[in-house]
Amino acid sequence: MAQMRKTGLAVPETVALAPFRAGDVWLAGAGPGAVELLTLMTLHGLQNCDVVVHDALVNPHILALARPGAEIIKAGKRGGDARSARQDEITQLLIELAGQGRRVLRLKGGDPYLFGRGAEEALALARAGVNFRVIPGIPAGIGGLAYAGIPATSKEVNSSLLFITGHDRHGQVPSSADWEAIARAGEVIVLYMALRKAREVAARLLSAGRSACEAVTFVSRASLPDQRVHETTLAKLARGNFDTAAVAGPALVVIGQAGRRRAELDWFTPLLKEADLG
Ligand code: SAH
Repeated sequence: MAQMRKTGLAVPETVALAPFRAGDVWLAGAGPGAVELLTLMTLHGLQNCDVVVHDALVNPHILALARPGAEIIKAGKRGGDARSARQDEITQLLIELAGQGRRVLRLKGGDPYLFGRGAEEALALARAGVNFRVIPGIPAGIGGLAYAGIPATSKEVNSSLLFITGHDRHGQVPSSADWEAIARAGEVIVLYMALRKAREVAARLLSAGRSACEAVTFVSRASLPDQRVHETTLAKLARGNFDTAAVAGPALVVIGQAGRRRAELDWFTPLLKEADLG
């Protein structure tokens, strides 16, 4: 961006952070994408680890902050990608690396415990007797939306927020979900991992009684230089009159009126335009 200044990005010396001990695993969140959304603790982990095991969504510019000499291992799972590592292989790898006395940074997009299999990994580490800590990250469904001019809650729109995954463990729209209850109670619904299933979810919400003209906002690659927002309605999406193939992943689908002040609250797009011009 035009007015950006380069920074050394070191954790300030006045900040005391826990030492990264040999044989420990830090299960850390990298935030939605932009480097500036890293926490100090994740940055500290990057600067002091021996190995980073990251998932597919982590921005390469974030990986570039790892201590020189740190090994970088991609172990991400992408929905439907048969070549991506299996979850049990990833947890096994973490346990082995820790067993070698290495300082292991397990880096995930957003927050490690939000739809990220972080809980399974932490449990496996706990059961294997590996020392671990969890470093929360900014979830795409909150911080990423803020970059698209969408407040997660606001007095005029919603006093609750529903996060739903469009993917159960079999890659299907969760069949156990009570769509009628969701349609009724979900003032604002944020769907994760739902690009391919968005149409099906829209159809279920419609038949469960949600309004046909309900707003649907797709937020694609939130906080990154190629962030895009697409708007449609529940009926158009359910009837196939909105082409989800035109939306680049990763993307969030926001159902409800949370984006109604986007024209006024979108502070990020003007900065991107400025950067393009500069
Ligand atoms: N732990 C993450 C979510 C991981 S699941 C978090 O806390 O946000 C992966 C899904 O997150 C993607 O399919 C997409 O729905 C969403 N996602 C992650 N990063 C995103 C981004 N920059 N923009 C939009 N959606 C994103």
